[in-house]
Order: sequence, then C-alpha cells, then structure tokens
Amino acid sequence: MTTPRPNRLDPLSLRFSTQTVHAGNRVDEGSGAIRTPIVMANSYALPEDPSQVSWSGTDVPLYTRNSGTNQLGLQEKLAALEGGEDAVVLASGVAALHGVFFSVLRSGDHAVIADVTYEATWRLFQEILPEKYGIEATFVDASDLGAVEAAMRPNTRLVHVEVIGNPTTKVVDIAGVAQIAHAQGALLSVDSTFTPPPLFRPLEHGADFVVHSLTKYINGHGDAMGGAVIGKRELIQQIKSDAMVDVGGVISPFNAWLIQRGSVTLPLRLERHLQSAAKIAAFLAEHPKVAYVYYPGLEAHPQHDLAVRQFEGRGFGAMMAFAVHGGPDAQNRFVASLRVITSAVSLGHDESLIVHVGTEGPRVKAYPEPFQVHGHLRFSVGLEDPEDLLEDLAAALEAI
Ligand code: PLP
Repeated sequence: MTTPRPNRLDPLSLRFSTQTVHAGNRVDEGSGAIRTPIVMANSYALPEDPSQVSWSGTDVPLYTRNSGTNQLGLQEKLAALEGGEDAVVLASGVAALHGVFFSVLRSGDHAVIADVTYEATWRLFQEILPEKYGIEATFVDASDLGAVEAAMRPNTRLVHVEVIGNPTTKVVDIAGVAQIAHAQGALLSVDSTFTPPPLFRPLEHGADFVVHSLTKYINGHGDAMGGAVIGKRELIQQIKSDAMVDVGGVISPFNAWLIQRGSVTLPLRLERHLQSAAKIAAFLAEHPKVAYVYYPGLEAHPQHDLAVRQFEGRGFGAMMAFAVHGGPDAQNRFVASLRVITSAVSLGHDESLIVHVGTEGPRVKAYPEPFQVHGHLRFSVGLEDPEDLLEDLAAALEAI
C-alpha cells in the first residue's frame, strides 16, 4: 500500500505544475520509496472477512481489471489536471472513446458527431454502432452551431466533438455546443487530445466528459498507450464498471506508471510545443512551395477568432495540416527529403512526426477543398530545437 507524505500540502490544492509533479504519487509504505513503484500484481490481499467486498468495485486495489495502485494514482492526477470529479484510465484513447459511447448510448438513441474526428470515432458511428447496435448518428460541421442545433433530435443522447479536429484542425466552440446539447437533455463528450491542459479544460466550458488519448501529449514520450475519460463521478463510475470491469479495456500498470512519469513535464513540454508550432506555421504559410497551411494560430484559419477567444492567449496547439504544391507524389518526395522530422503516425510525442494522408477515402469529402486536391501532411511539432525543424523543412522544400 502507499501513503500520502506526512506534513505535506495536498497537491490537489496547489497549482497546475505542482499537480503535474505530485498528484497521484505516494510514498511506498514497504520500501519508503518516494515515487509510487510499478505494481504488476494482478491481485491484492483481501481483508480477513471478504464477504462484504464488492467484486466489481473500482475504488480500492482488488484485481487489476477493477483497479490497481498505478491506475488509481494516474486517475487521481488526471481528474485534478482537468478539474473533474473523477477519471478512468483505459488501454488506449480508442478504448476511452468507446467507453463513453458504450456506456452512454443504447439501442434507439441518436448521437450528433463532428464531421472531422479521429478515424475510429468516425467508423464507430458510421458503421459499427448503427449496424450492430441500432444507434443512429448524424455527422455535422461542429464549427457551425446552427448546424449542431439543427441536427439535434428528441432522442439525441450524446454530442461528441474534438476541440481541434483531427486532421483538419477545425476548431469547435465548446461552450456553444454544450449549451445546445444540454438544452436538449444530451451529454457532451469532448476529445481534447490535441489540446491538453493547461491549454484548454473542456469541463470548465460545459463538457460532461473529456477524453484523452494519453498516448499523445500527456505521456509525451511515444512509448506507452493509454486513454482517459474525466468528468462527474457518477458518469465516470459507469464507464469504469462497463468499459473496464465488464469489457476489460484496462490499462497495464506499467503503461499507467510510464504515463504518470511522462505527464510530470506536461506544462514544460507544452510550452515548447506551442512556441515552436507557431513559428513553423508562420514559416510554412509564407513559403511559395507550400499550397496551404491549416493551423488555428494563423489569421487565415477559418476559426482563428474563435481560437483566440477560446484559448485565451495560451496558444493554438502544436498540430497543423499542410501540403506542398502538387499531388501525392509531391507530398511523398517532400517527406522523403526530411532528415530530422520523422515520417510516422501518432502525435504529441517528443519527436516531430509527419504523416502523409492522401486524397482518397470517404472522409476526405468532409475536408476543405485544398485537402481534396493535394492531400495533406499532418504535422505534430515536437520538442527538437525549432531552428533545426525550420532548417529541415526549408531544405526539404528546396529539394522538391
Ligand atoms: N483521439 C484523437 C484525437 C487521436 O488523434 C487519437 C489517435 O491518434 C485517438 C483519439 C486514439 O488514441 P489511441 O491511439 O491512444 O487509441
């Protein structure tokens, strides 16, 4: 077991960066270690009389699919960082998304879903949930509040959006969508993977659930998968029971430990990510060989004004979509010429990652026209020296 440190202030009562260092961490009673160790055990010792133990309880370590030392610590930290009553951590971001959808929706319900979202969200609502479970979905341009309102039905139970949409960087007015959802008695779930705290905290703007792929910025080191949902205790408890205990999407204790460690430096890393991304977006936007750049910090971005209001000067994320002039071949040649930036999927890692997404596929129809003409490069600006990144981009542009 672990205990709080004696004579210390409760980190949950302190500021964001102090929470990222201390929240969810305990002194280990057995060894005296000041960092919570990795506890890989599947089972925890039962009390002398276990007859009163709830076998599906999730609050005390019992069985790792219900709860464990490392999961509990990470959940405590994430609830604090997002300002929620409780959090559940699961095996991946997709397990977290599915946990929300699976726990909230039932056959006959309707959901309103942003037309630009992570691929798995789209597929769940396009195919799996309607075809197998009788859940209907309407995809809308969630940057248009009128369109969101018009899509609502009496049986709409859930609205799901991304703060900055993957991959086009469309920005959604979370407070505006929350008002519409709540007026119709629906819940709002917000995937905030591109906008980790302290950049943005959706619960403060009316969301009922915040979802993160912890795989991305919150871990930040590209070496562990995880997902989280944060929100009101009662709603989160339902997800713990359904998605973790009974469906089994539990995170491994080792990954929970890695993410707990990675998240310690989140505010410092984010500062660098945001500063470098702003410089790089400005550079690309001016370059004659670049066909377009979508980055919410650029004045030309369609939701720039909303982004300025919503993020209150803290930054605009570190994800952008752009393309060089030409078709898929041109994008491939450009990526092949990069020597610092890595061609790979995922985002929010320490290293800069770029992925060429083509012009094919049903989802591309929902993207702005330049995406349909050139395809796009989804670029996650990493923690390298920004001058090295700028030189790498400049040299690759020169080479094509
Ligand atoms: N949400 C967003 C916005 C993502 O970009 C991703 C993955 O890229 C996910 C969810 C899924 O996360 P994971 O890969 O951890 O399952």
